[in-house]
Amino acid sequence: MHERKTALVTGANRGIGFEICRQLARLEWRVLLTARDVGAGTVACERLTREGGDVTFQPLDVTDVEAVGRIRGYVEQVLGRLDVLVNNAGISLERGMNPTEVDIRTVRATMDTNLFGPWMLSLALIPIMKKSGRSRIVMVSSGLGSFSKLMGDRPAYRVSKTALNALTVILADELRAANIQVNAMTPGRVRTQLGGIDASRSVKKGAETAVWLATLEDAGPTGKFFKDQQEFPW
Ligand code: NAP
Repeated sequence: MHERKTALVTGANRGIGFEICRQLARLEWRVLLTARDVGAGTVACERLTREGGDVTFQPLDVTDVEAVGRIRGYVEQVLGRLDVLVNNAGISLERGMNPTEVDIRTVRATMDTNLFGPWMLSLALIPIMKKSGRSRIVMVSSGLGSFSKLMGDRPAYRVSKTALNALTVILADELRAANIQVNAMTPGRVRTQLGGIDASRSVKKGAETAVWLATLEDAGPTGKFFKDQQEFPW
């Protein structure tokens, strides 16, 4: 059995997901970098391998039931263990729209990627994670989903992240007994395709709290929401 701690990160061909892989690899974790685009995922993986990381790539579209089944098989048969799942993949399709303007198909597509994807992947991988004895699930959420700060713009994105936060709490409640810590985090506004070029934060900064949650001590928190390693209001 491979002794290195092992993490799976979704949507990791670019942006915050890629940087989470890089930071975990630098901590000498074994990283399974996943992405829906095989070409982009392979290039991203090669980049981190060249930097000295123990990183492998597998294709994964988080909305694809069969792909989730395949990744479960890969983790079980090839890796043999999983200590951390980082649900990072996310989309935001409706900038500048109000709740009364948004197309319900956009809402469904957003929920598919930002909520049902993480949920489906968690269901598939938790049985394997339970075997590691102490594992963590990190939900890359958003301050825009904080219930206390909800507003009318980006309705689908906001609701998907509010729901992801709720999923965090209910999973954490069930999995506490299995020593699986489940936490959500917001990276703040980060310079990525999703965050925009005028965002104030680097991907390095945006990834840090997710990596901190991935590497928490056993006595660490569960069922909480964080920004910059501090609790953030739901
Ligand atoms: P990004 O650069 O646009 O990256 C998003 C990643 O998600 C890409 O790798 C994308 O793959 C992937 N993805 C989208 N749909 C997918 C699917 N169905 N299956 C697998 N992968 C999929 O954005 P980012 O800023 O790094 O976003 C990462 C996370 O941070 C998201 O959950 C986002 O909501 C959250 N976040 C970001 C900010 C910010 O300011 N940037 C703020 C708050 C929260 P493709 O390359 O194939 O499209």
